[in-house]
Amino acid sequence: MDAGREGMADDLLAFIPNVSVNIDNPRYGMLLHQCVSRIPKSGIPIQLETRIRLKSKGSLPGVVGLTTFLVEGYSSRGSKRGAIGLHTVTFYTRLLSQLSDKAVMAVMAHELAHAWLNEHIRPEASKRREEDADLLAEMWGFEPELRALSEETEPLIAD
Ligand SMILES: [Zn+2]
Repeated sequence: MDAGREGMADDLLAFIPNVSVNIDNPRYGMLLHQCVSRIPKSGIPIQLETRIRLKSKGSLPGVVGLTTFLVEGYSSRGSKRGAIGLHTVTFYTRLLSQLSDKAVMAVMAHELAHAWLNEHIRPEASKRREEDADLLAEMWGFEPELRALSEETEPLIAD
């Protein structure tokens, strides 16, 4: 799936209205849609521009997914520009391919939780962020998936 906005499920657009998805592998495209469709609709959506993409491998061994968050605010000629926010959520398929569907969905929920927390709660660089992301994913209902993930992986897998 390499989607503009066409063909993107309503669930995905409801939760992340400004999303662009670059997932050309049907397995992960389907799992992403399943994952997002389970996130409770009552929550505040991720408003900022969000890129979701697949890469075959990352530079850090054991990392299955990574969410980066960029906010820029700058002034030009004295006029203050508004903050520009961008999330990039990257999934590394070499490692994801070793996981069950359930565990992959846990990784996706965890990374989306990072994006949500980065946007709505002050981002802090600490282990606490990992716990917060797992906690939010759990609140979204992904406790069984998170359990499957921890059963299938070594503690090495992070972020
Ligand atoms: Zn994380």
